[in-house]
Amino acid sequence: MVYSGTSVATGSAKAIVTAIGEGTELGQINASISEVQTVKTPLIRQTTKFGQTVSIAILIISVVIYAFGYFLRDYEPVELMLTTIGLAVAAIPEGLPAVISIILALGVRNMAEQKAIVRSLPSVETLGAVSVICTDKTGTLTKNEMTVKQIVTANHDIEVSGSGYAPNGDLELNGQPFDLDDDESMIDLLTVGKTCNDSQLNEEDGDWVINGDPTEACLLTVAEKAERPIERLKVISKIPFDSEYKYMATLVDYKGERMIFFKGAPDRLFDMASSEDFKQDYWDEKRKEIADRGQRVLGAGLKRVDSSKASIDHEDVEDGLTFLGLFGIVDPPRQEAIDAVAACRDAGIRIKMITGDHKDTAVAIAKELGMEVEGALEGRELTDMTDEEIKEASVHNDVFARTSPNDKLRLVKGLQENGLITSMTGDGVNDAPALKRADIGVAMGIKGTEVAKEASQMVLVDDNFKTIYNAVREGRRVYDNLKKTILFLLPTNGGQALLVAMSILLGAAAPLSPVQILWVNMVVAITLSLAIAFEPLEESTMKRPPRPANVPLLSRYYIFRVTFVSIIIGGGSLWINYMLGDFDYSTEKLQTITLNAIVMAQLFHLYNCRTELAPAFNRHFFDNKIAFLVSALLIALQLFITYVPFMHTLFGTAPLTWEDWIYPVAFGAVVFIIVEIEKAISRRVIGNRNIH
Ligand code: ADP
Ligand code: MG
Repeated sequence: MVYSGTSVATGSAKAIVTAIGEGTELGQINASISEVQTVKTPLIRQTTKFGQTVSIAILIISVVIYAFGYFLRDYEPVELMLTTIGLAVAAIPEGLPAVISIILALGVRNMAEQKAIVRSLPSVETLGAVSVICTDKTGTLTKNEMTVKQIVTANHDIEVSGSGYAPNGDLELNGQPFDLDDDESMIDLLTVGKTCNDSQLNEEDGDWVINGDPTEACLLTVAEKAERPIERLKVISKIPFDSEYKYMATLVDYKGERMIFFKGAPDRLFDMASSEDFKQDYWDEKRKEIADRGQRVLGAGLKRVDSSKASIDHEDVEDGLTFLGLFGIVDPPRQEAIDAVAACRDAGIRIKMITGDHKDTAVAIAKELGMEVEGALEGRELTDMTDEEIKEASVHNDVFARTSPNDKLRLVKGLQENGLITSMTGDGVNDAPALKRADIGVAMGIKGTEVAKEASQMVLVDDNFKTIYNAVREGRRVYDNLKKTILFLLPTNGGQALLVAMSILLGAAAPLSPVQILWVNMVVAITLSLAIAFEPLEESTMKRPPRPANVPLLSRYYIFRVTFVSIIIGGGSLWINYMLGDFDYSTEKLQTITLNAIVMAQLFHLYNCRTELAPAFNRHFFDNKIAFLVSALLIALQLFITYVPFMHTLFGTAPLTWEDWIYPVAFGAVVFIIVEIEKAISRRVIGNRNIH
């Protein structure tokens, strides 16, 4: 069969089309992917809800205020209509969607620099909430540089010296070089390893490089280490390796007979061994001995077949296998992975190792990595469980061995049932449904298939576990900054809305025109919020547990703070407006002073909001240069709108004398000081912990 999606590397062939579209294997996988429901990201859920609430509230308030102005104050209907529209414009944070997108986009860029490609904007923020990372072992937590360290036959237990792929080293028995003539089965074993193998080992400029699967290449290296040349036989037919069935078989002619060579996961081969001469207990013990050292165990065997046999299939390998021996293969943990595992623990993120390897090997490696292993399960144990049982098991076990792609999907669902924001890695085509279902599906950039990448939210350029951790850290920074932005932006809307509403209630002239309000909400807000987007990670961020999935965007403290600052900004600007009413100023000039007062309040307030509760002046005050750049830019913009004639026509502004500036600047400073005092008190009351 040539499957749809196959790329032809070379040559030509004639083929008959047997299926198209959904009828193909690829089509079926696609169909199963589209059946999996993606979970909406927390941010999208919350901003949607927030937007709806705000819209309804504004609508109600506008109607009430309009009715009040119409019946109790003798406004002209048209003028009142305009002012009420001004109120709605003031209350809606028009700049917020743009600012959120900008912050997320900057997050995406930062992550890409750190080798994590995020495929959808909201995923950046979801990353910050990740509470459990399910990860592959081989190549992600480990180096995927395999070296055979041990060979066990029915009679001997051989150590192999040397490391890496360079064939420097020896086969040793009790520290002495081992003579191959002493053990015929050792030669057979090495021959199977070398023949039942799709990889290549080459020397390039003194370096030994491999082409193909590391698990196979290390078998070439060990064959070279033998003091006698080992043959690589011609393969007549083969069943290539697949994680699904976990073995590989080839049909060859060896010692004048036609045979099938096998290599694969020992437990799979044990099932195929013919029962008469198979020493189950001996091999079980040896397998466990090797696995407990954290080594990957590979078994090998052969089966004699009729000389007319020309091709092999899975039925041919179900029984009758003569078991030859075991290879113990080390795949050392990556140092960065060890560091990242520790960092994840600090950050309260759980790690689940998901692997095709044997449970004993996986548990040993997990411990080497510094993971806490409460329990370990095998894929077939999962298969027998109900969804309810998986929900339990997914939390209390940290290593899942001999898993199949379907197990991954069920695990993701189980973890999500527990309310955990789940990240899952994968590389194969079959992993796609699990990747799509996970809150953050992570595909491997190097060894991953296109299908896996398509189904994922993030692609790891370097297949490295550390990169997942880095992305989570960046996600948390982004989320913190999103919250700070909201904390910063909303009081401006609240303040302006209060100002406009109070003016209507008092029967005064409009303090700001709708375009001026739009200027504040769009231009000023977006400019200043950029500063927060560049705010670096606060040290404490990676020392606290992940935020729960259901925390509201606006916590109780946030609601208090937004209301409090709204009242200061709204009340303060109303007071300035009222006071200046005594002077004989034109409406334009009055509005320009009020406009500048609100903008100055916002500018100073930015420095309050760079930290949530910590004092504005701290040792990181100068870390974020963008904040100062943006402040200078904003001042330029305000001078522009205040003094440039054509801006006067557009925005109804008027030039100010320098004394006029005293009110806005003093107002800004007062807001800053009051909010700092409020923060100091709140720190006392609710503690300096992070307020979700
Ligand atoms: P992992 O998630 O660790 O990469 P795999 O599914 O690739 O898991 O491998 C599972 C088991 O299959 C290994 O422990 C090993 O015994 C066996 N195996 C791995 N690669 C090969 C191969 N190329 N040929 C035969 N058996 C293999
Ligand atoms: Mg593998």
